[in-house]
Amino acid sequence: MSQAHGSTAWHTLPAEVVAERVGADAVHGLSAEEAAARLARSGPNVLPEGGGRRLRDLVLEQLRDVMILLLLAAAVVSGLLGDVVDTVAIVVILVLNGVIGVVQGYRAERALEALRALAAPRAAVVRDGRPLDVDSAEVVVGDLVLLEAGTVVAADLRLVDGAALQVAEAALTGESVPVSKSVRPVEDATAHVGDRTCMVHRGTEVTAGRGAGVVVATGTDTEIGRVAQLMTSTDEVRTPLQRRLSHLSSRLAVAVVVISAVVFVSGLLRGEDPLQMLLTAVSLAVAAVPEALPAVVTISLALGASAMVRQQALVRRLPAVETLGSVTYICSDKTGTLTRNRMSVEETWTPGGDLPGLSRALVACNDAVLLDGEASGGRGDPTELALLHYAAEGAGGGPDVAPVPRRAEIPFDAERRRMLTVHDAAVGEPGGYVAYAKGAPEVLLPRCAADPATRARAEERARRMAGDGLRVLAVARRGLDRLPEDLADVEDGMTLLGLVGLLDPPREEAAAAVAECRAAGIVPVMITGDHPDTAHAVAARVGVAEADHDATDVLTGRELAALDDAGLASRVLDARVYARVDPEQKIRIVRALQADGQVAAMTGDGVNDAPALRQADIGVAMGAGGTDVARGASAMVLLDDNFATIVSAVREGRRIYDNIRRFVKYTLTSNAGEIWVMFLGPLLGLPLPLLPLQILWINLVTDGLPGLALAREPAEPTVMRRPPRPPGESIFAHGVVWHIGWVGLLIGGVSLGGMAWAYLAGEDNWQTVVFTVLVLAQLGHSLAVRSETQPSFGRRFATNPALLGAVVLTVGLQLAVVYLPWLQGVFRTDALSAAQLAVCVALALVVPAAVEVEKTLVRRGLLYARPAAPVA
Ligand code: ADP
Ligand code: MG
Repeated sequence: MSQAHGSTAWHTLPAEVVAERVGADAVHGLSAEEAAARLARSGPNVLPEGGGRRLRDLVLEQLRDVMILLLLAAAVVSGLLGDVVDTVAIVVILVLNGVIGVVQGYRAERALEALRALAAPRAAVVRDGRPLDVDSAEVVVGDLVLLEAGTVVAADLRLVDGAALQVAEAALTGESVPVSKSVRPVEDATAHVGDRTCMVHRGTEVTAGRGAGVVVATGTDTEIGRVAQLMTSTDEVRTPLQRRLSHLSSRLAVAVVVISAVVFVSGLLRGEDPLQMLLTAVSLAVAAVPEALPAVVTISLALGASAMVRQQALVRRLPAVETLGSVTYICSDKTGTLTRNRMSVEETWTPGGDLPGLSRALVACNDAVLLDGEASGGRGDPTELALLHYAAEGAGGGPDVAPVPRRAEIPFDAERRRMLTVHDAAVGEPGGYVAYAKGAPEVLLPRCAADPATRARAEERARRMAGDGLRVLAVARRGLDRLPEDLADVEDGMTLLGLVGLLDPPREEAAAAVAECRAAGIVPVMITGDHPDTAHAVAARVGVAEADHDATDVLTGRELAALDDAGLASRVLDARVYARVDPEQKIRIVRALQADGQVAAMTGDGVNDAPALRQADIGVAMGAGGTDVARGASAMVLLDDNFATIVSAVREGRRIYDNIRRFVKYTLTSNAGEIWVMFLGPLLGLPLPLLPLQILWINLVTDGLPGLALAREPAEPTVMRRPPRPPGESIFAHGVVWHIGWVGLLIGGVSLGGMAWAYLAGEDNWQTVVFTVLVLAQLGHSLAVRSETQPSFGRRFATNPALLGAVVLTVGLQLAVVYLPWLQGVFRTDALSAAQLAVCVALALVVPAAVEVEKTLVRRGLLYARPAAPVA
């Protein structure tokens, strides 16, 4: 066997020669052992990737912070002047701070990496004579790869079989018009990649037809691999929230620096030590600048995305997690998403009683394969599998269900709604060839030569089956003397063999998920290529549409085509079912919804769905039944193809957004409290309340653990009972700014109150008092801020053990700092008497108590009113 080589002009050679040279078997594929051996030799079929941030980048990011550098410089100077313990302690705290930042960033990176790995492409190959789905990294030279509409090609292939194969090569050649491919060799050895019509290259997309090819090159040996150095995966854009928050934190940074400067100057004016004042002011700045906000958003989104995977929703683009909370319309496919995609033939009808003939047609005009050994298993379209099972069960006399060799075909496509195959006539049949067609009754019945009475009976029967929610196919046949030039001519003048009605029961979870959408102010909409009556029957069953047929909520593709944009705008908000819709029309539906300001999620599985999936605010592709192309165009993939999964993703998206909001609220309030203490203390005639090290400590322990634990808060019971968040809404809407203002001032107030109480009483440990009250008040606030409306100290108290643990641990740390002698030396604290500690705790508890009062007012609608919930 000669090795495949990049420089061979494979396209000039006949398919058999290529197959032989790469050691391929164009029928049975490689054996599993041979494939494994080749993989070990050649390495995985992957291209070098841009990849995520490395640990080193994360560390450098932490160090780049100017404030931290300034603080380090000041600490070193003060250390040189004698206060070594202080310097070391400051450095230790900053290092701890940095470590937390790095660990968080690292966790987020790992979560994203895991998501990327899950989203890795797959390929259909034949091994040991059986079709098999493998990770596309495992494809080797000589593999037999199967292609169908929607496949993104995994390696460079020489076609060995192809039927009406069309491939879009934009990724390789920039040319977006699909190219027809065929097995015939190309003579010109120097033909441009785009003209090698018997080759199919890695990264290109099959837009129509079927085929198979043997792999001639993998990984960096492929055509696209040679230019891969130019590509890096730039999939991760920053989300709108991240952009807004980094904008905000840079503005807040300016404000904090100004305040710190004021604290510094006023300290100088009071005659404090300049170096000490510099340290104090810079520590305050470091503690109060919320530079971690954008990072926390990334972490929350990334960790949220990994939580979603556990619920079968794979997020491919991070901003989607955020957008999910704003979704107002979910436009879902019917088949497989709202229904189970477990079809079974429920009813057949034949005009002349020729059931065996009908069965033969169903087997011949069929791309699915039954796999032996698996009772209900098989490969291919569920509709077609159901037809094979029907035939296999002998319902029509039990013909052989092995695939029947074909002479020619027009593959099924969702727009034509039918398929046609041509075969050699069976022994005893007149004529040399026989053509079979199956498809939607409206397109097939008019093409059948039948007497008007039979036609009318067939139409009536099809309508009845559709009204019962069955998917109806008409099946027809025609004998041919010779193979026609143009296959389309064959379709006219066929003989109707009969009708088949397939049942695809709704998914069990669908009705509940639809109801949950409604309660959450989200409109579920069904879009299908199926008949309007079938669609409406299913829609009524799952609750998407009313049971009594209302003309305004069902729109057909034909009606849609007749509407101009203004006409569509007037219907789109009320339409609940779109039937007999071409995939191309889906993009109009999305655009019309978006033009009205709606945020639309849309599902899709085929190649033609890709533009609509890209246009939708959240494109949702099918993981089990969908195509590579649709997945590539989507922000999210449903691993179980289930509508209910979209709804849980929305719930999760809302929870994550709520938690980010909580974190922002908590941190900014805490920072405001610290600033008020340092700013107001001296203004009120008190000494400078806190030492630099104490400020840094507060920042470390209160932001660190409790802040992180807030991200674990479970969803509020009301998340799916309130309307979607308007997409442009600020994270500070509904009273967050007010909350930060007044609670921050309250935290500052109780801390200074404690300080004044001790200071005026002549106690030496007044600094320890203000230090302790400030820490405890922030912790109390972290408990209270868990919900915007629900009491934190009632039934919900134990729902976030991480937060409770963080609070207990932080209280313990603070007590250690106050009572352990060696830490007292470092932090300049003095033990508090029991009475003093009690007063500190009492003062700190004022904060959560006040926040609970705020929540009561919010619950009564007296504060920060949200818009009223919509009537579902
Ligand atoms: P859906 O929205 O249910 O996925 P499709 O676009 O798959 O709809 O199918 C549209 C119509 O095309 C069906 O109602 C059926 O009449 C016809 N059809 C579906 N699958 C096949 C097939 N494999 N062969 C022939 N006709 C089909
Ligand atoms: Mg379909």
